Amino acid sequence: PHTPAPTLTARALHARYGGFKALDGVDLTVPPGQVTAIVGPNGAGKSTLFHCLAGTLRPTHGQVRLGTRDITRLAAHARTRLGIARTFQQLAVFPSLTVEENVRVGAEQGRVTDPTAVDRTLRLLGLDGPVRAVPAADLPTGTLRRVELARALAGSPRILLLDEPAAGLDSAEVAAMARVLKALAADGTALLVVEHDLDLVADLADVVHVMTAGRIIASGPPDHVLDGVGT
Ligand code: ADP
Ligand code: MG
Repeated sequence: PHTPAPTLTARALHARYGGFKALDGVDLTVPPGQVTAIVGPNGAGKSTLFHCLAGTLRPTHGQVRLGTRDITRLAAHARTRLGIARTFQQLAVFPSLTVEENVRVGAEQGRVTDPTAVDRTLRLLGLDGPVRAVPAADLPTGTLRRVELARALAGSPRILLLDEPAAGLDSAEVAAMARVLKALAADGTALLVVEHDLDLVADLADVVHVMTAGRIIASGPPDHVLDGVGT
């Protein structure tokens, strides 16, 4: 039903924090209708890569492209308007706003203004009951991960960058999250997922990239790549 997402591409990305090299030449393609996963130890540069893709950190070298367009110098909010949404490893919900209000903020920042988006997204993530009126500050992590995803989804993104979406979830919540993410990919969304839960990665990902020390050191389908990776 939807036109496929354009491909998000990183070419030779380098990023630094002061003198510290956090990305050391990363090439990555995030194609539509697929789940691309990144695994690797703490400090590998996974979140830094997300910041460069989302526009919250300017790479020192290299390029980020959306389709054929060079977006390397585009601000984060402008990328959101183009359909690149992201979630944060450290949740970025507004504690004093209700679940519904948080999702509404996401809808307003997004690619399209769709009056049904808030209700549809709340329903998709099982947040359409009484919880919709509860302030985020009063909710457990498992629910907040869903609110965080709903906030990103409400703007109808074509590319979704998820930084540890299963962190703090119990196994039933992980299974529910996996179902939602698979449905989004089946609908043509391009998903890039950083995740420590390797069972979830094996279940979800079409392609896995292994990152360490600011580089991608292996890439392939999960059954080829995940053997022997401990994160
Ligand atoms: P990952 O998400 O793979 O755990 P990060 O991208 O968060 O890794 O971090 C990569 C490296 O950059 C780590 O060594 C981390 O300590 C460092 N780093 C991350 N953010 C900052 C920052 N704001 N200032 C300085 N160093 C940072
Ligand atoms: Mg991280």
